[in-house]
Amino acid sequence: MTPDQIVELRKSKYNATVVYLHKVHSDLLIMRVRPDTARPPHRPGQYTTLGLGLWEPRIPGCQEEALDPVEESKLARRSYSISCSILSEQGELLDYQQLDALEFYVVLVRQAERKAPVLTPRLFMLQQGDRLHLGEKIAGHYTLEGVKPTDTVIFLGTGTGEAPHNYMLWELLRQGHPGRILSACCVRYRKDLAYLATHEQLMQRYKNYTYVPLTTRENPGKGKVYIQDLITSGELEKTLGQPLDPKSTHVFLCGNPKMIGVPEKDVVTGAMRFPQPQGVIELLLQRGFELDQPAKKIRGNIHYEEYW
Ligand SMILES: Cc1cc2nc3c(=O)[nH]c(=O)nc-3n(C[C@H](O)[C@H](O)[C@H](O)COP(=O)(O)OP(=O)(O)OC[C@H]3O[C@@H](n4cnc5c(N)ncnc54)[C@H](O)[C@@H]3O)c2cc1C
Repeated sequence: MTPDQIVELRKSKYNATVVYLHKVHSDLLIMRVRPDTARPPHRPGQYTTLGLGLWEPRIPGCQEEALDPVEESKLARRSYSISCSILSEQGELLDYQQLDALEFYVVLVRQAERKAPVLTPRLFMLQQGDRLHLGEKIAGHYTLEGVKPTDTVIFLGTGTGEAPHNYMLWELLRQGHPGRILSACCVRYRKDLAYLATHEQLMQRYKNYTYVPLTTRENPGKGKVYIQDLITSGELEKTLGQPLDPKSTHVFLCGNPKMIGVPEKDVVTGAMRFPQPQGVIELLLQRGFELDQPAKKIRGNIHYEEYW
């Protein structure tokens, strides 16, 4: 592909600009993307798409891609939850509605099982000022719908699965949510918790808010503690200072499908089959919680967003 063709493709396919980019480390970034037109209406927790042309360069050190030259002019798009830094640089609750950009929190996938990861090796080449494709619609059922002011809200995420939780947390704090709020995030290393300092500030300021970081490869003397262990050990209830009461609690699960553990329905018997090892959904159903079923328009108190 010639440089002129690339200029033309970028002009015709891209509709947004990276206005802020912070590389937390080599494999993790926070960026803000400003659409050429007005920011689409949306609710905290929802997602849109980011896209780059297959003609764009890939960051070195990722699985090699076998790209057919006829594919080179196509756009690769993937879904991303909208994130939120929650606090401004001055330490105040962010005026997110006034921002003309959307925030994203993305991890580099260096290797995938079936074929080389497509978009993230290209996203990680971006710099402030670069152009890309941003979805025109923002969608999703993963929102605070149905949460009452006195309800306890628990966000459980893995890695960048914290993104929609940060935006929903911002919304709750902005509304002065009086109920208890807890957000837990499980990562490998402490450096993978890009918003840790913000959560620490928030805990100082909001007595009803607790952040629980879990670092599976950096937890001296305690071994690996996963989100599921927080529930089975009773640690979650201890930290909350109250029992997990399904009548007044909403639980949000986002990120790695193994943590979430969505059951399959047996087509013959209709019975639910749960994945092994046990995910959080099975643990919560055993305690009387009810699962969201958007296809049947059932809004329960277990809400989930799987990233793959
Ligand atoms: C609704 C929704 C919201 C999402 N929001 C985010 C977000 O806010 N931030 C974010 O980083 N990702 C998010 N994702 C995942 C994202 O859409 C891409 O799948 C991911 O960035 C990989 O894209 P890729 O093109 O590089 O890899 P692909 O070519 O799409 O390869 C996909 C494979 O990569 C692996 N993979 C995907 N995501 C991860 C991950 N986080 N960690 C480890 N392996 C992974 C899986 O094995 C998956 O099968 C979201 C996905 C969905 C469905």
